[in-house]
Amino acid sequence: NQPLAISPVQQYLERLHAELQTVSAGEIASYIPELTRADPDWLGIALVTVDGHVYQVGDSRQPFTVQSISKAVSYGLALEDRGLDAVLSKVGVEPTGEAFNSISLEPDTGRPLNPMINAGAIATTGLIEHEDGVDPLQHLLEAFRRYCGRELSIDEAVYRSESETGHRNRAIAHLLYGHGILDRRPEEVVDLYFRQCSMLVTARDLALMGACLANGGVNPVSGIVALKSDWVHRVLSIMSTCGMYDFSGGWIFNVGMPAKSGVGGGIMAVLPGQFGLGVFSPRLDDKGNSVRGIRVCERVSRDFGLHMFNVA
Ligand code: GLU
Repeated sequence: NQPLAISPVQQYLERLHAELQTVSAGEIASYIPELTRADPDWLGIALVTVDGHVYQVGDSRQPFTVQSISKAVSYGLALEDRGLDAVLSKVGVEPTGEAFNSISLEPDTGRPLNPMINAGAIATTGLIEHEDGVDPLQHLLEAFRRYCGRELSIDEAVYRSESETGHRNRAIAHLLYGHGILDRRPEEVVDLYFRQCSMLVTARDLALMGACLANGGVNPVSGIVALKSDWVHRVLSIMSTCGMYDFSGGWIFNVGMPAKSGVGGGIMAVLPGQFGLGVFSPRLDDKGNSVRGIRVCERVSRDFGLHMFNVA
C-alpha cells in the first residue's frame, strides 16, 4: 500500500506554520479583560478553496471570539434585510484611517463613515431585522450557520467582560441614537453587538466564511447560500478598503486581498474566485491586527503571486 500523498498546499501551509511559529512580536488585546486568557502561542491556519477543499494546520480548530470579523457578516445581512439605499443612508463607505473605536461620524448627519469601525458596525447591527420578526440574535446566528456550516455559540465570559467594560461602545450607541441613526434602543443594539463579537469561531470557520465570499456567496462545502450574490461584491469592497483598521491601505497594497481582522486574533482573507484564508494568532500589533496573521497572508500572497491587482 502506497501512503497517501500529502497535497502540496498542505505541505506549504505546514512549512509556513513551522516558520512563523517562532515569531513572538505583539501583545494580546487586554482592553476586554477576558481576552487575556488566550495562549499567545496559538497559531492556526486554514484555507478553503471554492471547490470545497479544506486545508488546515496548527491550532486551526481552537475556538476564539470572532470580534470585528463579524462586522463583514452583519453588513451583508443588513444589506439583505434592508437593501442598499436604506443601509447607505445610515452607514457610509469611506475609510477613516482612524482606529477601530474612533468616533468617526459625519458632523451633520451623525452617519458613521463605514461599517468596519465600531460606530458603523453598531449602526449596522441596529439594521439587522428579519421580516418575520425572528429575534435578531437568532437571525445573526442563522447567518453564521450558513457561512460556517455549523451552529456557533457565544463565549459568555468574553461577552460579559466586554459588556462590563464597553463604555465607549455604549457611548457610541447613544450618540447614534441621538442622531437618529439607530431606531432601536441603544442598550438593546449594543448588547446584540457585544454578543455578535463574542461568537466562537476557529481558523477553519474563518477560511470557510472567506470561501463563501470568494465563491459568490455560496458555501462551497454545503452548497448553501451564505449571502445572496447581489451583495458579495459590496461586502468585499468594504473589506478591501476598511477591513484591517487603520492599516487597510498598507494591507491592500501589500497583500492585495479583501480581509477583515478582529482583536481576538483572527483574520479572514478572501481571494475572489479562488479561496478563503483564515488565520488565528492572538498577539496583535499596535493597530489591533494579528502579527502572525498578517505575516501568513503576506507570505501566501507573495509566494504564489496572488495580489488581486497583479494580473501579469
Ligand atoms: N468587540 C470589540 C469592540 O467593539 C471588537 C473590536 C475588534 O475586533 O476590532 O471593541
